[in-house]
Amino acid sequence: MFLVETITELQNKLNGLKKTGKIGFVPTMGALHAGHISLVNQAVSENQIVVVSIFVNPTQFNDKNDLDRYPRTLESDLKLLEKTGCQIIFAPSANEVYPEPDIRKFNFGPLETVMEGKHRPGHFNGVAQVVSKLFDFVKPDKAYFGLKDFQQLAIINEMVRQLRLDIEIIACPIVREESGLAMSSRNELLTLEERKNAALISETLFKAKELGYQKSVHELESWVVETINKNPFLTVEYFEIVDSQQLQPVKNWEVDCTKVGCIAVFCGKVRLIDNIVFN
Ligand code: AMP
Repeated sequence: MFLVETITELQNKLNGLKKTGKIGFVPTMGALHAGHISLVNQAVSENQIVVVSIFVNPTQFNDKNDLDRYPRTLESDLKLLEKTGCQIIFAPSANEVYPEPDIRKFNFGPLETVMEGKHRPGHFNGVAQVVSKLFDFVKPDKAYFGLKDFQQLAIINEMVRQLRLDIEIIACPIVREESGLAMSSRNELLTLEERKNAALISETLFKAKELGYQKSVHELESWVVETINKNPFLTVEYFEIVDSQQLQPVKNWEVDCTKVGCIAVFCGKVRLIDNIVFN
């Protein structure tokens, strides 16, 4: 496994290896956990060469404190990655990725005006900036993204379509802690007590899925928000049941589409997201 920090080193290594087959790519911001590792394992099983990037991308943080607080654990990340059989870790500096400010403005239409897009202005533009650059550096055949960031996946698919990139985007299932809490690098920022209480988020989503059609969409949304907000550690920012393609709010269960409930919750200062598919 090679650790490279510059685009030139990355491309030199890739040129050496490329003849051996397909390139799989897993972009991450580090502070790796079993969720990330599941993506890397899948990439390793489907490609001859696997590149994992570790880069805390400043342009996707709309909150400077969130960027400053974001955990950075390169040494333990490398230890975890050693066991996966991936070949290249690309961990560039901000200057390497952005030698000059990226002024590109993407337009993802209705996909970016709801949920994360609405509550984190500029977030998806930053995601598209960094992922499009990383795709250009790595030139992968397949790239792996987690369904935990459901809206991000829709944005990436749309970006690939708009830019006509010849990259297959692979959606990977959400990996959860034993408590049900969706794994996240931000979980490391929770106190033990907060972490215990945060399990109510997934618990409520699972119950909502069971209750499903017994309540109207609107009643179910209110029930989820109220149930979680009763916990003094948790404050719901949004919970919306949307169609899985366009991410637009669904008004009733009869609409013919896959429905997904997406949630963002503050646990203390830490913002957590999760989602559940209804069909
Ligand atoms: P991040 O480092 O948070 O930018 O995440 C890097 C990739 O890992 C993204 O595609 C995420 O969706 C994915 N990911 C993060 N947490 C999980 C999880 N609990 N289960 C599956 N994938 C995840």
